[in-house]
Amino acid sequence: MLKKYGVENYFLLPEFQESVKGENHWNWNPNKGMPYIYGHIWFTPEYLEWKDRVFERDDHKCRICGSDKKIQSHHIFPLRDMPLLAFDVENGITLCKKCHKKTFNKEIDFIDQFLNITMGDRVR
Ligand SMILES: [Zn+2]
Repeated sequence: MLKKYGVENYFLLPEFQESVKGENHWNWNPNKGMPYIYGHIWFTPEYLEWKDRVFERDDHKCRICGSDKKIQSHHIFPLRDMPLLAFDVENGITLCKKCHKKTFNKEIDFIDQFLNITMGDRVR
């Protein structure tokens, strides 16, 4: 499925949208509920704009290895923890698919590193 649609298109599928709603979400917490935003920001105009701005700031290159192939936008503070930073460019960093993969489920470990990388951009 992922191969057929590509990761990003996959998020557009109704099946996926359904699978991240409320109790279906893998991060569902019965005490806290689930920020619906996580499954729904994909491909909203705000998200596309955020993504473009992050890519633009990063010159459309991976900030880890410098590759310009298969770049993706990554949230430095994970969306599920900081949904309010979803569309904050300073919370975004451009990564290639390969480097992005290394951060999966280890997002927290990468926060310092990514903030260091993008810190210079902020004072520019
Ligand atoms: Zn890379």
